[in-house]
Amino acid sequence: MKVVVLTIFPELMQAFWENGIMRRAIESGAVAAQAVNIRDFAQGRHKVTDDRPYGGGCGMVMKPEPLAAALRDVKQQTPGALTLLMSPQGRCFDQAMAREMAAHEALVIVCGRYEGVDERFSEQFVDGEVSIGDFVLTGGEVAAMVVMDAVVRLLPGVLGNEDSAEQDSFGHQRLDHAHYTRPPEFEGRPVPEVLLSGHHERISEWRRADALLRTFARRPDLLHGATLSKEEIALLGAWHRELESIIRSQGGSGPDSPPGGGQER
Ligand code: SAM
Repeated sequence: MKVVVLTIFPELMQAFWENGIMRRAIESGAVAAQAVNIRDFAQGRHKVTDDRPYGGGCGMVMKPEPLAAALRDVKQQTPGALTLLMSPQGRCFDQAMAREMAAHEALVIVCGRYEGVDERFSEQFVDGEVSIGDFVLTGGEVAAMVVMDAVVRLLPGVLGNEDSAEQDSFGHQRLDHAHYTRPPEFEGRPVPEVLLSGHHERISEWRRADALLRTFARRPDLLHGATLSKEEIALLGAWHRELESIIRSQGGSGPDSPPGGGQER
């Protein structure tokens, strides 16, 4: 996959590309990464890429001409690329989007700065706007790294173990199970015994149950859209009965009864 990042701070991308899995992905040829300096496409002696907003107000706006010139140049070399603008107003990035993007041969990621980019550029030149969450960053570069990191680790051969991206959180509408490493006891807290048993079937069973429990406790919304196995339905049923029994023991008759059996205190 080819990834081109359009930015006024290309050097910000370098450290990200020179370390860890990203570096390995680039060295192995799974990814070709390039940062294009938007300033190189600006006109005039001062190579200005921003200007005051029409209508007044605070901040600066990224001018459309350097952005358009930079993107046209990139698109000439990478015609079929999916072009995304990083923006807090975009579609919220998630694992499903990462999978969609990973299916493309090439991505062009445009990073805004200041108050953002001139609207005519975003209307005419990009395929979509992507947000990494409901907060505002000073620039799109960190957002571009987030998107690239999530996409690249899904490319075949990038992670050592092909299965590990599948097992990660959101791989199957579930969160990942808990992970432990040595020592077997840390500050009085032991590793769950089954993980030390060497019994592969029981370990897999424990991991499936733990993933289900964590998803139920932290992100039950994910389970609403999931296809559950018979084993998982049985587990949820058992927990449901257990919860009912705990509630009954407190004097309630079921999950809908108020605590204390509805008695006012
Ligand atoms: N005035 C804009 C607004 O309120 O919608 C915010 C502009 S922000 C200070 C500057 C740039 O940072 C944006 O153009 C975008 O490229 C990037 N950015 C900020 N927050 C982001 C987010 N949550 N997701 C993706 N990109 C973001």
